[in-house]
Amino acid sequence: MFVVQTNMRVHPTENTNHTRKRNKKYHCLFCGEEVEQLPRHLYSIHADEHDMIQILASTDSSQRSRLLTKLRSMGNYKLVFFKAA
Ligand SMILES: [Zn+2]
Repeated sequence: MFVVQTNMRVHPTENTNHTRKRNKKYHCLFCGEEVEQLPRHLYSIHADEHDMIQILASTDSSQRSRLLTKLRSMGNYKLVFFKAA
């Protein structure tokens, strides 16, 4: 059974028109660590995971991007779901 939170808020970035700040954090699906640059973390720490092997083997950049987005969403979802439980 899923818990729907209607008051859920997403932390926004603090970008301005001239600078890009990477202070938005993402949660790793595999270790639960909070990281700023998730693809770098996944490539360096979790390169031996099944999902990462599929991403690393992919030669299509759009497919690789789609799979990374899926892992990022699943990591953030896992954090919200297990915090609520
Ligand atoms: Zn991790």
